[in-house]
Amino acid sequence: MGGALVPRRCIACQTPLHNKRPGLGRFVCASCMPMIDHREAVRCKRCALALGPRLQAFGWTHCRHCKPLVEHLECAPLECVVCSDYVAPFDQWIALLKYGNNHGLARFLGDWLGTRVLELGMDLPDVLVPLPVSPDKLKLRGYNQAALIARHLGRRIQRPVHTHWLTKTRELGAQAALGRDDRLRNLNNAFRATLCVPKGIRIGLVDDVITTGATIQSCSAALRKAGAESILTMAVCRTPE
Ligand SMILES: [Zn+2]
Ligand SMILES: [Zn+2]
Repeated sequence: MGGALVPRRCIACQTPLHNKRPGLGRFVCASCMPMIDHREAVRCKRCALALGPRLQAFGWTHCRHCKPLVEHLECAPLECVVCSDYVAPFDQWIALLKYGNNHGLARFLGDWLGTRVLELGMDLPDVLVPLPVSPDKLKLRGYNQAALIARHLGRRIQRPVHTHWLTKTRELGAQAALGRDDRLRNLNNAFRATLCVPKGIRIGLVDDVITTGATIQSCSAALRKAGAESILTMAVCRTPE
């Protein structure tokens, strides 16, 4: 009941936020704002890996992993947007949400991601589909952090969230210990769409962090199998190379 009376604190430095401020100022104080309101890196259009100055100078729009795939049409088109690289302090914020049950952070992270997508003027998705976690993990943790982010992102960009469109069909084992190719093999058919995606629907696939992009690709493949034609991947952070 009294929750609304407690002054909110800056997500980054914990200073109480007294004044009503617009936009992301509801979560972050003025002195911490540059940290999240920075000019974003130019990123690979397919996997959101930051493109260094050399690649930018050559006019590359995709990273060295995605460029050959896109050029040889070996992959279905995939678009990706993130707020930032997966570095401090954002990695700690995501850990607090993931393991610390800090739902206030989900509000901020979803709002941040929505703000970024609107700023970039991207084609908005019609529906949001969070990356699923396995039933065992859901039982253990009590919530799916990607679904929480999706809910607040959905409020920001006014789109519905469908948590059951995708399910995880099996546990993946120690994915982090595997190399790039093994990861992709391991992920084959790990996800399944639970319905036929209605024609013409653009899906926003939502996750907290993109590591190699292999999980996202596996989810996208499952959605495409179910008829999805247009998918935008949206994540708060991207692990740098
Ligand atoms: Zn602050
Ligand atoms: Zn890429």
